[in-house]
Amino acid sequence: MEEQHYYQPEIETASREKIVEIQNEKIKKQVKHVYENVEYYRKLMDEKGVKPEDIQTIDDIKKLPFLTKADLREAYPYGLLGTDLKNCVRIQSTSGTTGKRVVAFYTQADIELWEECCARAIVAAGGTKDDVCQVCYGYGLFTGGPGLNGGSHKVGCLTLPMSSGNTERQIQFMMDLKSTILCCTPSYAAYIGESLADAGYKPEDNHLKAGIFGAEPWTEEMRRNIEKSLGIKAYDIYGLTETSGPGVSFECSEQTGMHINEDHFYAEIIDPDTGEVLPEGSKGELVFTSLDKEAFPLLRYRTRDICVLTRKKCSCGRTHVKMCKPMGRSDDMLIVRGVNVFPSQIETVLLNEGYTPNYQIIVDRANNTDTIDINVELSPEQFSDKVSETQAKEKALEGAMRTMLGIGPKVHLVPPKSVVRSEGKAVRVIDKRKLHD
Ligand code: ADP
Ligand code: ZN
Repeated sequence: MEEQHYYQPEIETASREKIVEIQNEKIKKQVKHVYENVEYYRKLMDEKGVKPEDIQTIDDIKKLPFLTKADLREAYPYGLLGTDLKNCVRIQSTSGTTGKRVVAFYTQADIELWEECCARAIVAAGGTKDDVCQVCYGYGLFTGGPGLNGGSHKVGCLTLPMSSGNTERQIQFMMDLKSTILCCTPSYAAYIGESLADAGYKPEDNHLKAGIFGAEPWTEEMRRNIEKSLGIKAYDIYGLTETSGPGVSFECSEQTGMHINEDHFYAEIIDPDTGEVLPEGSKGELVFTSLDKEAFPLLRYRTRDICVLTRKKCSCGRTHVKMCKPMGRSDDMLIVRGVNVFPSQIETVLLNEGYTPNYQIIVDRANNTDTIDINVELSPEQFSDKVSETQAKEKALEGAMRTMLGIGPKVHLVPPKSVVRSEGKAVRVIDKRKLHD
């Protein structure tokens, strides 16, 4: 087993009883705080007939009403604020991947706890004060840059606040300043790997040892691809603006799911249709309660991310519950001819069949039937001028897709560098049906 380091060992390896004790204590205080300060949520509790006194332990959380993205939009901008605006020091905002942006507020204490969570993630990936941490998540309203930047400072790494984009400069600094940890979206990591190879570097030429990649879904196949092209170990990190940002959960050396920082965020899995809480190991919608955030204290927030939780003992020594890689959001799921299709299933097939992670899915409707087309980029080595060869490969890939998805998409193999690269969150799907509706 690799030697383990923790940023906050007492809490990260605390016994289950200790964690529950912390949660019991915090939830009582938090519900009272929200009830007294957030009129919007007080109304929801009143409508459900729940009083703060009804919440005595963390298990009582089931009695509380859910919050949804629609609530956040309705309450925009100040409706869910848990403290006076003069106590807030920062706002961040969602990327707006699935609609109108959400604005989240932070007190200084909220920032501290968020950055501590990111510091835990960096240490779990092997980070120490000897490391050079290159942060190429976007800075600004997006939480990726500021979150990892703060965590990197806390660990004491030399922090390179690169933000995303300008890949040539990323590579120059990475090589000249000998970056050892890379933080960005997995799609950008793949692009950086590709650009390094194009510039004539081999994976062993860089000094990177680890990458902390998240903010969008990515498959195990994508992980292997990135680990190979950069010569690193790639760690997953998860979070959302509504709960603070990245660092709600993070991967450890075992790389079999992300430990949720349970002293700050309480996780539940529910049946998205009925709202019923499901037992450990069931697949369902992830719901988060922030146990101690002051400015934006969301209780039972429905993330729409589809996930599974597990309490199986982890070899890293951390005791916090683990979540699997989210299988995509419920809103990412495509329904094509009545069949549920996740873009991640398509990514799995492509990478297993030896194709690049550069692809785009186009869904449309023709003659009242859904159509699904996948543009898959060929690497220069795979590219061939022979039409018959290309057609045979397309047919083979269509067959593999049909086996995985249960429906047959049309595959188009396209020339190298023809699919647009992502510097932030990749846009994998174009659903043209929405334009016709
Ligand atoms: P937006 O909803 O506009 O994208 P955020 O930037 O706050 O706003 O994104 C949060 C969402 O990003 C999460 O709810 C989840 O769907 C996705 N996400 C974040 N990290 C990961 C990850 N490691 N794996 C899969 N999805 C992730
Ligand atoms: Zn672990």
